[in-house]
Amino acid sequence: MAKKKAPGDETEPGTRQSAENICRRCSGTGKVDGRPCRDCGGSGRVTVIVGDA
Ligand SMILES: [Zn+2]
Repeated sequence: MAKKKAPGDETEPGTRQSAENICRRCSGTGKVDGRPCRDCGGSGRVTVIVGDA
């Protein structure tokens, strides 16, 4: 599934040790104060780096 990189993403989608997480800014709603969340781009999810390797 193609996913556009959002400002809140820590890494490119599909890279190793990446995973989708609920956006902390908007708590997964995709909106903040009635506007699209700028961290996740309105998707409610961000791609973050996981693991400690
Ligand atoms: Zn968000």
